[in-house]
Amino acid sequence: STTNRGWNLENSYVKLPNLFYTKVKPTIVRAPKLVIFNAKLAHFLGLDKKFTKEDYVDLFVGNKIPKEALPLAQAYAGHQFGHFTMLGDGRAILLGEQLTLAGKRYDIQLKGAGKTPYSRGGDGRATLGPMLREYIISEAMYALGIETTRSLAVVTTGETIIREKPLPGAILTRVAASHLRVGTFQYAANWGNNSDLRALADYTIARHFPDVTQGSNPYIGLLEEVVKRQALLIAKWQGVGFIHGVMNTDNVSICGETIDYGPCAFMDEYDPDTVFSSIDRQGRYAYENQPTIAAWNLARFAETLLPLLHDDKEQAIKIAEDAISDFTKLYHCNRINKMRAKLGIFNQEPDDESLIESLLSIMHSYGADYTNTFRALTFDRLEGVEIFDSKEFASWHQLWLNRLQRQNTSHSEVKQLMKDSNPGVIPRNHQVEEALEAAVEQEDYSVMDRLLKVLATPYAHSSQHEEYTKPPPPSKMPYRTFCGT
Ligand code: AMP
Ligand code: MG
Ligand code: MG
Repeated sequence: STTNRGWNLENSYVKLPNLFYTKVKPTIVRAPKLVIFNAKLAHFLGLDKKFTKEDYVDLFVGNKIPKEALPLAQAYAGHQFGHFTMLGDGRAILLGEQLTLAGKRYDIQLKGAGKTPYSRGGDGRATLGPMLREYIISEAMYALGIETTRSLAVVTTGETIIREKPLPGAILTRVAASHLRVGTFQYAANWGNNSDLRALADYTIARHFPDVTQGSNPYIGLLEEVVKRQALLIAKWQGVGFIHGVMNTDNVSICGETIDYGPCAFMDEYDPDTVFSSIDRQGRYAYENQPTIAAWNLARFAETLLPLLHDDKEQAIKIAEDAISDFTKLYHCNRINKMRAKLGIFNQEPDDESLIESLLSIMHSYGADYTNTFRALTFDRLEGVEIFDSKEFASWHQLWLNRLQRQNTSHSEVKQLMKDSNPGVIPRNHQVEEALEAAVEQEDYSVMDRLLKVLATPYAHSSQHEEYTKPPPPSKMPYRTFCGT
């Protein structure tokens, strides 16, 4: 459409009981400068055309508040590495919910916009590197077809933020279907009464799961839908080798989007024990643990809903337990189907799982690159790395070729499914670092712009992307992410 409306904000969140938020304005910053702007997303939101570049700068730094906005910080709690605590938006401010021309509702949130009542000891600020990193990785996730919050803009504030060293301050405009978290429900269950909890659940249902009101108990429906979306999301993460890094309950979105990009990273060499985050010393959030942790987080969610699931406590617990065991089944099913697709398999055979696991096990023992192994299989380029010369791989390869014969599918259909299921490019850590270094240290955004362009079409398998498919040089391994903020 060409009739762009500009801001079309509503503020449904303020209709929740007061304990769920505090009204707070973004702190004015001195010298804002727009460094990256997502024109396509702006267009999708109905935000373009009406604004000049100067408007954007003031809007996305919080110096100018759209007139229908009611800025607020959300309250929530969470289990952080297993320990329960009160949290809340310590540096993020929700401007409101933008209604798109198609009638969809998206939170517009400024991350790094100043102190709030939930800042605890923090300065309410964010630095440029991590905000650009969130921009790159969230947009890459979107292009990979994985549910995620998105990034509309990054603005530098002209202020110096003190971390381990002085760093440029920045604000990210984050766009999300909502910022409701498992931690929001934990907050309601711990600091609210039953009517607060019910208000939150009803709000969530109306916003994300209106269909469950058809059922006899909509709260059971709510639980089941949240379980379903997590079971899909985590299977997608595993499929591309994404490691979130901080799967605390406050970082689990109720609507099933990937949220809170901190020390996340994509796996290069396949190793189920992979951990990138320097603060995850126990490997709690290692690649292989992600499904189990998701189930644990969902159990915490289910616990908060107990008073709404059934009047009888034991019946309620039974319902909650069933939902969690459904997660395990659903996840397993989604994951196997995802891996089948990566191998060009359309139909189902009982031995598919062992076919998949044996490939992964060979990849692990040869330290094969996760993304590139599936690319090589897709394009029959089985050369150049050790794994492809091995006996184990040769016998696995024969089993796989035999397996492909046992379906009524043409060679080209198999190849198409594989091309659509195996990304050629992922945001490789060393490339993301290069882009961030040029941006932060030289104010050179060209490296990042090129990377973003490539990451926008991960399934194009363009020959022009070849440079971006290279695994990291050994000097860049093992890669560590720091909880840079
Ligand atoms: P995260 O690890 O990003 O999920 O953040 C955990 C909690 O710390 C959230 O409640 C954040 O709002 C808060 N937080 C992180 N950084 C800051 C900061 N610089 N100032 C205030 N609060 C922060
Ligand atoms: Mg968080
Ligand atoms: Mg290992």
